[in-house]
Amino acid sequence: MAADRYLTCAACGVRFVWTALEQAQAERAPDRCPACRLLLPANGRRRGVVKFYNAARGWGFITPTEGPELFFHRSGLVGPTVLREGDLVEFAVEQTARGAQATEITRLEIEGE
Ligand SMILES: [Zn+2]
Repeated sequence: MAADRYLTCAACGVRFVWTALEQAQAERAPDRCPACRLLLPANGRRRGVVKFYNAARGWGFITPTEGPELFFHRSGLVGPTVLREGDLVEFAVEQTARGAQATEITRLEIEGE
C-alpha cells in the first residue's frame, strides 16, 4: 500500500495531499490542487465572458480566456439560458463554414449572485 504524498499545485503553488487511495485510482499524479481543478472547465470545453449579446437578433460574441473572440448564435445556448454582457460562460467550439463558433453555451452560476 502506497503512502499519502504531498504535491505542489502547478497553478497556484499550494501544497496538497495526494492520498494513497487517490494514487490507486489515478494513472498519473494531478498537477493541480483540488480547488484549481474545480475551476477548470469540463473536458473539451472552454470558458469566457460574454462581450456582446443582441438578444433581439440572437447573436453575440464571447471573449474566451485564451484566443480570439468567438461568434455565437442563440441556437448554441443550452436550454433557457438568458445571457447578459459580462456573464461567465462555458462552451464548446465548433468549426463552421464561417469560422470558429461557440456552441453548447451554459452560463456559470456564481455564488451570491
Ligand atoms: Zn491550486
